[in-house]
Amino acid sequence: MLGFGEVGGVGQLVYHSFRFADYEIDYLKDGTWAAIPVCDAHHPPDITQKDCISGGYILSSLCNLAKKINDLPKEKPFTDLILDWCKDVMHPYHIDEVYGELTDEQFDLCDMTAELAGRDATFSLHAFMEELGKLYDTARFYTALMRICEGDSDETYDMYDEEKRFPGLPYLERYKHNMRNVKNIDVSAAKDNLLKEMQLERTYMEAHPAKQTADGDYAVEPFDDYERLRDLLMESVPDFRLQLKLSPKTGRMTFAVDVDSVFEIAWLTLAHMMSEDPIEEHHGGSHEGLTGVMMTCRHCGDFFIRRNNRQEYCDKEKCQKARNAKNQREFRNRKRMLKAGKKMQTEENYNGKA
Ligand SMILES: [Zn+2]
Repeated sequence: MLGFGEVGGVGQLVYHSFRFADYEIDYLKDGTWAAIPVCDAHHPPDITQKDCISGGYILSSLCNLAKKINDLPKEKPFTDLILDWCKDVMHPYHIDEVYGELTDEQFDLCDMTAELAGRDATFSLHAFMEELGKLYDTARFYTALMRICEGDSDETYDMYDEEKRFPGLPYLERYKHNMRNVKNIDVSAAKDNLLKEMQLERTYMEAHPAKQTADGDYAVEPFDDYERLRDLLMESVPDFRLQLKLSPKTGRMTFAVDVDSVFEIAWLTLAHMMSEDPIEEHHGGSHEGLTGVMMTCRHCGDFFIRRNNRQEYCDKEKCQKARNAKNQREFRNRKRMLKAGKKMQTEENYNGKA
């Protein structure tokens, strides 16, 4: 459960989180796999609050988990990656209910209450994968749209891949083809019959295959279609359910979003980031306010939360090294060009005097 006030700042989303020591995998009646937490005296759950687990952290680490799973060959199992995330970050489902059980006065690791908590916390791995895929695909589309707004649409070219577990959203595919060609086809012979028009178009396209643009270059700039893309992004985000609830902090009624899983927290965080307009001119030429949003690292491609709107690399050492190397390269180039410019100027002066 989350009040509006708590949703406030991106990355400030703090709430109860807990981790089970381990999980067992079991086959469910409906033919899917379930993760059952191990919760007993030898495997006590960790209910200490970690300050670092904000909404932004949950969102970006879930996206990085999805990226890791997506990069695995399809025949490789991925269950361990999911369970490692749950043990490291937090248990993903039925958060409020299970936290209540684990912190109840009657709770005892040596009796039925521990077993019950484990049973209530059991979740379907199939459902987890499905929700993870939706979140990851939308998050990638969101960062791609940010890149497009920054004038970097080339970087978004290879986003969609049907061969992958999480293929991505196909909305940018159409800009790879030059649609103007289709509009120039003479369809008067069809006499306004739509089906015949389409057949004529197809025959024409087969006879005149579209000119291939250089690999990695869009035929039509996606930014020119920004409104459509933004609407598609908005449609990809699920609705939230608002309810009157009792605040555990104040004991008073509060209008709150019902949050029961890490995915709901991640979606809420993403929706909040999306409400920051990425188009520069809408900010009067500055990117102020755009900090705290999620981006992908220029070096490793992992998701991270920006500390400022110029941050292009994540905090990993190898990525910071890559950033420094690039900055030095650019500095040297600038110096070289400055020198060359001065030299030309001196020569001009010399020639002028002569
Ligand atoms: Zn990186």
